[in-house]
Amino acid sequence: MSAADAVTDALGQLHSRFAGVREGLPAAYIPQLARADPDAFGLALVSMDGHRYSTGDADVPFTLQSISKPFVYALALSVLGLDEVGRWVNAEPSGEAFNAISLEPATGRPDNAMVNAGAIVTTALIPGTPDEAAFERILRFLGRFAGRELDVDEEVYASEAATGDRNRALAYLIRSAGLLPFDPVAAVETYFRQCAVRATAVDLATMAATLAHGGVNPVTGETVVTAAVAAQVLAVMATCGMYNGSGDWLLRVGLPAKSGVSGGLIAAGPARFGLAAYSPPLDATGTSVRGYGALVALSQRFGLHLMNNP
Ligand code: GLU
Repeated sequence: MSAADAVTDALGQLHSRFAGVREGLPAAYIPQLARADPDAFGLALVSMDGHRYSTGDADVPFTLQSISKPFVYALALSVLGLDEVGRWVNAEPSGEAFNAISLEPATGRPDNAMVNAGAIVTTALIPGTPDEAAFERILRFLGRFAGRELDVDEEVYASEAATGDRNRALAYLIRSAGLLPFDPVAAVETYFRQCAVRATAVDLATMAATLAHGGVNPVTGETVVTAAVAAQVLAVMATCGMYNGSGDWLLRVGLPAKSGVSGGLIAAGPARFGLAAYSPPLDATGTSVRGYGALVALSQRFGLHLMNNP
């Protein structure tokens, strides 16, 4: 069997093994997400030579939700640099849920850019340009990672905007610490829009593969960020990307990763591959149940754990 056939075969086997899992429920606190098909399940892998492998519902579009966070963090790091971004957003695991009030008491600085508080600040740090408003800049940047233009699911955006008071409260709380001169209303609206950007598992695997490939999209060949920024983003994904499940994830899977409440999950094997799963039913940490199971199994079967010494 060729190496390519072996990857396709492995993804197919994982799909068959986990498709029947019936645990978890799609997120309901954003009403539009509760309407997702609980049976949808797709897996995708993109290699460093730009090969795309997929199985199941890997071409079904869904919203990025928190998977947007590492990529907007990458944009902030590219524009402002690590030291300036670090003045406003820390890089410490919070050990708390995605929507926790994870703020340093004295400064109001969020713990990291993967929890909502930190992501709202990261988004607020992105300046518009003479040609582009901040959100258009973010959308175009996300598209460069995916290798195609992406768009917004306006229904999911409207649904989150109608119910997102906790994120608004977080933004006001951060501003009340008085350090970051930002407009909480504008920041949260832009954050809701970036969460509602639509992509498929194949797109997400390409985005993860771009981080794994030192910032160069392996499908298009475009340099999207520097190798240094890609490494910084992967480091924060490794320690904070799975919220209060981050320690367990690093222990069992051993790869930088990011989950999102729409049921997407990405993981990156530096210099090796980008992986993505899509399946809406979530566990208590907001992680796709089938995605988690499939990636634990894949990592164990192929020895993908980064701390593994084969
Ligand atoms: N838009 C979601 C929120 O802010 C993202 C959360 C997530 O995907 O973990 O609540």
